[in-house]
Amino acid sequence: MDTRTTLLAHARDSLDGLRREGRYREFARLERIAGRFPRYRWHPPGGEAPREVTVWSSNDYLGMGTHPAVLAAAEAALRAHGAGAGGTRNISGTSPLHAALEAELAALHGKEAALLFGSGYVANQAALSALLSALPGFHVFSDAKNHNSMIAGMRGAPAARHIWRHNDLADLEAKLRAAPAEAPKLIAFESVYSMDGDIAPIGAICDLAERHGAITYCDEVHAVGLYGATGGGITERDGVAHRVDVIEGTLAKAFGVHGGYVAGDAALVDYIRSTAGGLIFTTALPPHVVAAALASVRLLRADPAPRARLAERAAALKAALDAAGLPRMPSASHIVPLRIGEAALCREVARRLLAEHAVYATPINYPTVPRGEERLRLCATPLHTDAMMAELVAALRAVLPRAAGARAA
Ligand code: PMP
Repeated sequence: MDTRTTLLAHARDSLDGLRREGRYREFARLERIAGRFPRYRWHPPGGEAPREVTVWSSNDYLGMGTHPAVLAAAEAALRAHGAGAGGTRNISGTSPLHAALEAELAALHGKEAALLFGSGYVANQAALSALLSALPGFHVFSDAKNHNSMIAGMRGAPAARHIWRHNDLADLEAKLRAAPAEAPKLIAFESVYSMDGDIAPIGAICDLAERHGAITYCDEVHAVGLYGATGGGITERDGVAHRVDVIEGTLAKAFGVHGGYVAGDAALVDYIRSTAGGLIFTTALPPHVVAAALASVRLLRADPAPRARLAERAAALKAALDAAGLPRMPSASHIVPLRIGEAALCREVARRLLAEHAVYATPINYPTVPRGEERLRLCATPLHTDAMMAELVAALRAVLPRAAGARAA
């Protein structure tokens, strides 16, 4: 067998299939403009002149990625310490900045310790596979809508996996009951789910965990910096942070920079630090990235105003879409999905919004969401103005002419 020929033929066939279904991913070239978020410079394909557009699909939820104090911290650290960390955490890559950020994140969540990773993805993958490999016979209970990075972590361990229906406590309880009483157990879930914007009943999950002797692992990637009095996420908002064993987060969304982390009991975090391949065998985050993230975390811990403004803007966006009769899906958070329902149409709507209306909204297709639930995922940030919102609604009405009234149907 000529592997190269077979593999190339397979790659081309699969890509053709994705194109036919409208699921082929094209990365729009979007240039961020410091100081002007959420305005970006879009570079159209085919070498046309760049155009300014308003981005509605940024995970820089508060615009912290271009905040002057965050940029100043990055610049100062870059000049003082250079461009890269120069090693893994173990081999000369740990600076006082890394230690300071870990202490800040532990304090943010009221935990004994925190540990940085190269990204939120790596944090989930590395921490879950380390924890689930720690004891023989582990059973892991995973919400059906958990992120790919958690699934990767669970698959990297010899644990028995049980998938419970999304946010369904009765199903979780039935599955916990069916597992051997003496087996070590871990319940893995998110707080804010990134594609639907709904929120887990964390307190009730902790009740079940306590009843069945399980530990809890909560991905707060779409909530840290955004919810709770000091930005500790939904676990802080709901007063349950002390009941969740491991809180995982990112520095790349509300905090606007890059990197991921876990926070928990000192011994658990030290165990992950000492055993997780995704921490041990990779270069540490660059000092200027850590300095920028530290500035951002400190700013958002101290100042609730950006959180309040985000909540107000998200409510305004939902109200504007509803008033225009656009097919908004229900959401309990700042994430606002707009149902399109078909992959090729979803891509075409996004293409026309960008090319004809200077509005960027990412099409979300299968397998990220189930078939038939294809959508645009919109997020208003504190920096999206009423005028931008009016432009978005007008653009959606022009591109989705049959959308008015669709919510009622
Ligand atoms: N968890 C969830 C729920 C996510 O949505 C993402 C990224 N979109 C991650 C983890 C990974 O975070 P990061 O982007 O920092 O790798």
